Amino acid sequence: DSVFAHVVRAPEDPILGVTVAYNKDPSPNKLNLGVGAYRTEEGKPLVLNVVRQAEQQLVNDPSRVKEYLPIVGLAEFNKLSAKLILGSDNPAIQENRVTTVQGLSGTGSLRVGGEFLARHYHERTIYIPQPTWGNHPKVFTLSGLSVKTYRYYDPATRGLNFQGLLEDLGSAPSGAIVLLHACAHNPTGVDPTLEQWEHIRKLVRSKALLPFFDSAYQGFASGSLDADAQSVRIFAADGGECLVAQSYAKNMGLYGERVGALSIVCKTADVASRVESQLKLVIRPMYSNPPIHGASIVATILKDRNLYNEWTIELKAMADRIISMRQQLFDALKTRGTPGDWSHIIKQIGMFTFTGLNSDQVAFMTKEYHIYMTSDGRISMAGLSSRTVPHLADAIHAAVT
Ligand code: PMP
Repeated sequence: DSVFAHVVRAPEDPILGVTVAYNKDPSPNKLNLGVGAYRTEEGKPLVLNVVRQAEQQLVNDPSRVKEYLPIVGLAEFNKLSAKLILGSDNPAIQENRVTTVQGLSGTGSLRVGGEFLARHYHERTIYIPQPTWGNHPKVFTLSGLSVKTYRYYDPATRGLNFQGLLEDLGSAPSGAIVLLHACAHNPTGVDPTLEQWEHIRKLVRSKALLPFFDSAYQGFASGSLDADAQSVRIFAADGGECLVAQSYAKNMGLYGERVGALSIVCKTADVASRVESQLKLVIRPMYSNPPIHGASIVATILKDRNLYNEWTIELKAMADRIISMRQQLFDALKTRGTPGDWSHIIKQIGMFTFTGLNSDQVAFMTKEYHIYMTSDGRISMAGLSSRTVPHLADAIHAAVT
């Protein structure tokens, strides 16, 4: 008998499980709105043209080898990543107060940040928004932190529960860590306004809370890399400390390359360099050093003015297609006279719409219309196209009437 005979079957991941179910459905009309990856108008995955060009350059460079990267990753990539999120003229970068390590995309960067904090920060509690990306509580719990939530989304308005957020962060213990989505909050698509961010910043600083930004969608939300980094930059500009986990999965379409970065903005260059020395001790026993290919692609694009400009154009095209899907779905529901206020579809931003559909309505749409999404009613706008919007609108209409 197997020594593993007692192992019980684990449930599917709630997000990745949607695709498993979708793949099993033989219907020709099936639609997968669960997946958090960009699709073209034809429903195909997209490799950006700039990524192909950068890869071509790398392939043609005979000096390129496959040696190990340092524990902290590709130095050039780290520097450029910090500039991308914090702003190239950010004083913290110029003063060498920022330490950046390459991470295994957003997830790995969050995990390294979490483990560092669990070992070296005095307050072990991290507050995450309610709701949030389903992996957050697991990543931080396994990092050794204790996870609590703060109110974020108001189902009644399908918008931000700003009062609840301020109350909950206001009563958090001094020094607690606060996880903030830099933009395009997942799963709700609801972000604070700039004015509200400024209010949050004042509260966070006055209570000495430690902000930890998760930036998985820079440029993907509004189409502008700078606009989507505003939240992080107002914190990085006040001289206080913060952490930022970046992912290039969405904005460069490098999902499977697992390329991201963790930056820690510190008070002084000396602190930053000691922090970096400890980050290495977190990383070394976990995976030794990060993969080289994705980081080389990103560095090639970020350091070349032409490639960079071309990237911003391709990025904006992805963001614009998603925004136009929002409008088309909203219009289609209006045309059908679907009961309810659906304006949140055009107000929310980023890859997802938090439809407000409940789990019974979701189950109905899957059974009757072969439309797949997470049971919380989150749909990926990136998985929609002009061709599939009417089918989704029919399904939503049928589900709520
Ligand atoms: N944070 C958020 C909010 C996300 O939505 C995602 C991707 N779904 C990630 C982090 C991490 O993704 P990855 O590890 O692929 O970069």
